[in-house]
Amino acid sequence: MNAADPKTPTPRRPPVRDDLAMNEGYHSPQVDVAVRLNTNESPFPPPPALTARLAQAIGEVQWHRYPDRGARQLRRRIAELHGVDSDQVFAANGSNEVLQTLLLTYAGPGRTVLTFEPTYALHGHIARVSGAKVAEENRNADFTLDIDRVVAAIDRHEPSVVFLCSPNNPTGLVEPPELVGAVVDAVARAGRGIVVVDEAYGQFASWSAQSLLGGESPLVVSRTYSKTWSMAAARLGYLLAPAWLVAELDKVVLPYHLSVLAQLAGTLALDYADDMETRVAAIVEERGRVVAGLCELGAEVWPSGANFVLFRPPGGDGEAVWQGLLERSVLVRSWASWPRLEGCLRVTIGTPEENGLFLAALADVLAGSLSEGSRP
Ligand SMILES: *Cc1c(COP(=O)(O)O)cnc(C)c1O
Repeated sequence: MNAADPKTPTPRRPPVRDDLAMNEGYHSPQVDVAVRLNTNESPFPPPPALTARLAQAIGEVQWHRYPDRGARQLRRRIAELHGVDSDQVFAANGSNEVLQTLLLTYAGPGRTVLTFEPTYALHGHIARVSGAKVAEENRNADFTLDIDRVVAAIDRHEPSVVFLCSPNNPTGLVEPPELVGAVVDAVARAGRGIVVVDEAYGQFASWSAQSLLGGESPLVVSRTYSKTWSMAAARLGYLLAPAWLVAELDKVVLPYHLSVLAQLAGTLALDYADDMETRVAAIVEERGRVVAGLCELGAEVWPSGANFVLFRPPGGDGEAVWQGLLERSVLVRSWASWPRLEGCLRVTIGTPEENGLFLAALADVLAGSLSEGSRP
């Protein structure tokens, strides 16, 4: 049967939910290039000793049995890493599934989720898929937040979930402890919502909201293996929260959602915390070099506490520069057409070699456009 045959009537397809019809999904182009600096993964593969142990462990799996439903070993190890109790840890397939489970549990129809834009697009996206309404408040022009305005927004919108992202993607800014503390206090006072601090890049930052966790405080801190732990392919993330909140999530998430592969990868990776810290230090050092290189090329650069840098190339034509970089086999993330990020690009910190190639390609692109622009 040929679906393109004009005589074949188009079959009527069942419509999706009305509230999803306008949804465009999440897009981040995956292109085959020499230098991939667009999705903030670690540029380093996991330590060879880790992949060797993982391969061996996979050989010993009882494949005909379901995995441990509670992922107890993994949760215990994550809890040890952070100095909390096992029942304060919830793990899932990437921090995106962690966030989805949170939103299915605490958002949904008739409820409001509050975000401060620009921020990680999936916070609003997953909230909408859950059926919730998303209230978007703007950040200041320099992407910071004022405590008074944030607290007023919480009073006005009465949100069930408030998202903060620290360091914030895509701006790189770390939210100060006073701000996060004030948000948690305001939400706790209102007594109807939770605060989620997405710390996907937490290891690169100067402080963690983990220090504010405790007791009845309605605070959740989410983390991922995708960035620092060199484990994006494993799809594993987790959150730290009060035990009563984790117990609610366990009722909502699908049974046996975490495969034995993800559980093993996550458990074994934690044996390599020292390697991870060495890598974080190396990336932070490279970040300084990339920022200096960008400034030298005349770009506007925002201070970053993460493994990426937001910048606006001189001339402000981010889209053309993005294209020019792609032609030189360097892929970065374009935010050029996003509100409040006009002309901006975001580059992930790669290996020293990749960063060098990126800066050289950018210099080349800018030299080309400048010489064209100055032609009579
Ligand atoms: C990359 C990223 C994540 C990670 O998502 P995973 O599903 O764990 O890969 C979460 N939050 C933010 C802000 C990110 O940038």
